[in-house]
Amino acid sequence: MKYIATIIRILFLALFLFLLANGKVMLWLILFAASLVAALIFGRVYCGYVCPMNTLMIPTEWLSKKLNLQTSATPKWLKNGYFAWISLGISVAIMLLSKRLLHIELPILPFWLVISVLVTLRYKPAVFHNLICPFGTLQKTFGRFSMLSEQVDKCTCIGCKLCEKACPSNAIAVSAEDNNAVINTMLCHQCTNCQQVCPKDAIRYKKTKYKSTYNSSN
Ligand code: SF4
Ligand code: SF4
Repeated sequence: MKYIATIIRILFLALFLFLLANGKVMLWLILFAASLVAALIFGRVYCGYVCPMNTLMIPTEWLSKKLNLQTSATPKWLKNGYFAWISLGISVAIMLLSKRLLHIELPILPFWLVISVLVTLRYKPAVFHNLICPFGTLQKTFGRFSMLSEQVDKCTCIGCKLCEKACPSNAIAVSAEDNNAVINTMLCHQCTNCQQVCPKDAIRYKKTKYKSTYNSSN
């Protein structure tokens, strides 16, 4: 699964770069809009497999760890979660104003691509995914209602926390109450990292049980 996911990510990155090189990056926004509808059924698969930022953040995080640059801290000013909404508002405003005043379609995604890599050189991927990314903000809004998602079988989970460490978006956490892992569908990218490291095979992609999701936003 790991290799299949990597191939899918690279293919979508190649498509994005092709559209960018041919001045057609706005077509990507149509794909993104479709992914929001898909998120209502399948969860945030766009974030896990399609997003070029996520695809570049994976090797960037590896490099950051190798160079000992990564910190587990989160900048204080990001913690309240408002900045992601501000970045969404600024992105939409720039796109609309550039079209209206300059008569050009300014692609905003390449700008965020650079920011995502720079942020991930220093901070854990969840900082960009959950607290900065304007696209992730919309994905969160739709993904929280997903009909299907990775889910933890409480009877099988032993609370070892391996899944917590493997998750790029802080979407899974072991509850102190019952020592069971719980997935927050709103934050989950459906990447299956947690499934791959779980020693008890306790995580499966299936119909969402909203009562069992935890509700951290970062
Ligand atoms: S890795 Fe599996 S067994 Fe360990 S806490 Fe996560 S879900 Fe539970
Ligand atoms: S909870 Fe699992 S599937 Fe969801 S983002 Fe985290 S590691 Fe990926």
